[in-house]
Amino acid sequence: MGLFPTYRKSEIRLKKGEGAWLWDEEGHRYLDYTSGIGVCNLGHAHPRVTEALGEQASKLWHTSNLFPIAGQEEAAEMLLRATGLANAFFSNSGAEANEAAIKLARRWGHQVKGVSKPEILTFHSSFHGRTLATLTATGQTKVQEDCGPLPEGFVFATYNDMNSVKEAVSEQTVAVLLEVIQGEGGIQPAQPSFLKELEAFCREQGLLLMLDEIQTGLGRTGTLFAFQAMGIQPDVVTCAKGLGNGFPVGAMLGRAGLEDHLGYGSHGTTFGGNPLAMAVTGAVLAEMIETSLLERVQETGKYLANQLHEKLLPLAGVKEIRGRGMMWGIELETPAAPLVKRLAEKGLLVITAGEYVLRLLPPLIITKEQMNEGVDMIVAAMKEVRVDECVSRV
Ligand SMILES: *Cc1c(COP(=O)(O)O)cnc(C)c1O
Repeated sequence: MGLFPTYRKSEIRLKKGEGAWLWDEEGHRYLDYTSGIGVCNLGHAHPRVTEALGEQASKLWHTSNLFPIAGQEEAAEMLLRATGLANAFFSNSGAEANEAAIKLARRWGHQVKGVSKPEILTFHSSFHGRTLATLTATGQTKVQEDCGPLPEGFVFATYNDMNSVKEAVSEQTVAVLLEVIQGEGGIQPAQPSFLKELEAFCREQGLLLMLDEIQTGLGRTGTLFAFQAMGIQPDVVTCAKGLGNGFPVGAMLGRAGLEDHLGYGSHGTTFGGNPLAMAVTGAVLAEMIETSLLERVQETGKYLANQLHEKLLPLAGVKEIRGRGMMWGIELETPAAPLVKRLAEKGLLVITAGEYVLRLLPPLIITKEQMNEGVDMIVAAMKEVRVDECVSRV
């Protein structure tokens, strides 16, 4: 009796958080470089967000989407003004935001392109979620194992390779869906030139350019959305993780004209964008848009990049360091799991992205001191783990 063992859980039982700090049940303190997998971007127990939730909780939790929800209109306005898009649909999670995008692309394909079996092109090593459609869209067979029969209508290309995109598209292709930096796939950034060429190709071929910014969005890379630093304009953007700072909420944003293809009765959600979620989302967006937080992330992100390159790259066992803002992958020559464990013992929580990549997703509010402290712990742990490995091999 218990929980389905879908996750290999840490032994640490966390109890309390504040800013970039977490405490376990025994009172040990940890520096959090996970942000709950890129979710608590403003840190734990952020005063403005906590207050917004508390205030809303005493007024009204839920009405259903049959009634107008003022918080949706306010959050949508902030998201749309920032992205140059025209309409928003709020969901409970990232996968559901992508489901909405997939449905929209298919409906647009049927209705505008007259395609009978619309195909969406995604990329190898991508991650788009765990529902049947989004795990099929995900370019990693490990998430699809024994889940068949899988829905049709997805084709795959190689990330950062325009030729492979051109080879994979067909008459039935209606959209391209991709991450600006592949997160679960090992922190692999898209090359700016690839994004530019892909955008031009989508325009020329009449394909929707759909960006999955579920992990890269909400300030993670130093701009509200990662695409804003790349000089491209997507037709559809999905986001979730950082949107509620830990409250479950996602959104699918689409350009003007697409509202004709996701009309009355074509899609829905009971909980999505309810007043509680929207109170939190509004506070998160206001904090990111109205304050100088994101400018600071651009600066502190460069500082973290320098620290990682200076102190970690020269170490034996480190292959490559990739990322932007507060989203970093350290590719190792050996599996990353022993290092994650050693770091937790030292008081630094990190995660992996695939077997060989140590993934750092600190909260955006992290201080330079906390960056120095974290990087120094990684350096020390790298050296210790390597010494232990050498000893155990003798
Ligand atoms: C986490 C993630 C998802 C899935 O989001 P859920 O909220 O877990 O459904 C989809 N795409 C990307 C890029 C993600 O990082």
